[in-house]
Amino acid sequence: MLDAEFFRRWLAAVAALVDREADRLTELDSAIGDADHGSNLRRGFTAVGAALEKEPPATPGAVLMLAGRQLVSTVGGASGPLYGTLLRRTGKALGDDAEVTPAQLAQALRAGVAAVAQLGGAKAGDKTMLDALEPAVAALGDRTESFAAARVAAEQGALATVPLLARKGRASYLGERSIGHQDPGATSSALLVAALAETAEAAA
Ligand SMILES: [Mg+2]
Repeated sequence: MLDAEFFRRWLAAVAALVDREADRLTELDSAIGDADHGSNLRRGFTAVGAALEKEPPATPGAVLMLAGRQLVSTVGGASGPLYGTLLRRTGKALGDDAEVTPAQLAQALRAGVAAVAQLGGAKAGDKTMLDALEPAVAALGDRTESFAAARVAAEQGALATVPLLARKGRASYLGERSIGHQDPGATSSALLVAALAETAEAAA
């Protein structure tokens, strides 16, 4: 079972990974965006960590909803609303349970990813976050061991954005010039999934 503490540790692991990879995210975003993805997400997840520490929510759902609200209010551009929607919708789907199963988390994350797709009007193959998130949630099963498979699927999905033409977001303004670059949003989404796998491994 996964409790609120597990979810706080997951988000702390995301913050650490985003901090470590911020320069790389910004470098990717400078190729096909506006060079702020790393600094934006670093600011957002630092704020998430501070908010969770100040008043730790008692349930997994509340942890994710608080984190999502922090991201919406601190991360600029499209990333704030998209990541905020992912976490808030996932948190809402988890409800008020004090502990959730990996299967519940998988189902909730699928709802969160669907909400991201709806908000962005995007689908897999458009060179967005969804190219990492959709294969990741497809790989999630009813055991925490499946988190490692989701991590691999997300990383492969992010790598697979390199040859794609961007059809959504700022990179789509570049048209054909977006080809040959890894999508920053898919890359940061893979960090989120990697942090989930790390957190489960550390708890095992
Ligand atoms: Mg940007």
